[in-house]
Amino acid sequence: MSLTDSYDRDNIFARILRGEVPCYRIYEDDHTLAFLDLFPQSRGHTLVIPKHAAARNILDIAADDLKHLIVSTQRVARAVVAALQPGGVQIFQLSGTAGGQTVFHIHFHVIPRWPGEPFALHGRQRAADHDLSEMASLISAHVGAVQGGG
Ligand code: AMP
Repeated sequence: MSLTDSYDRDNIFARILRGEVPCYRIYEDDHTLAFLDLFPQSRGHTLVIPKHAAARNILDIAADDLKHLIVSTQRVARAVVAALQPGGVQIFQLSGTAGGQTVFHIHFHVIPRWPGEPFALHGRQRAADHDLSEMASLISAHVGAVQGGG
């Protein structure tokens, strides 16, 4: 998809938001939803998306939607760190096919990293459901104890 294409209302994350496709939910508020990446690049790889913005990526999202999204991303990153105690965390957003983007509903990746632990290829290996389920319980148990934006 090129950077000038329009938003597709049937992309997989829009379908998750409409409840048509399940997800391993981590956090939800009025503006955003966070859930586990099914093809994680590390244990606990989480995606954070806006609920009401028909935006493909960083280039077309409105300022208010972006503010809510980045504050939730910070909150989710704090919960991931509290739950999993990684050595570091990577947060990124890919824009356009040539930028590596594969799902065209804006999302931030939150990817915990541990020294010496390999970084899986992007979107390649689907995690086992029992591992995803366990991980979702672990991280979501910490999300109430942290805030974003302060
Ligand atoms: P990007 O390539 O930056 O657009 O990231 C899209 C991400 O969505 C990839 O890391 C995929 O593994 C992930 N993904 C694709 N389909 C699903 C799904 N149904 N549930 C959760 N994650 C997904």
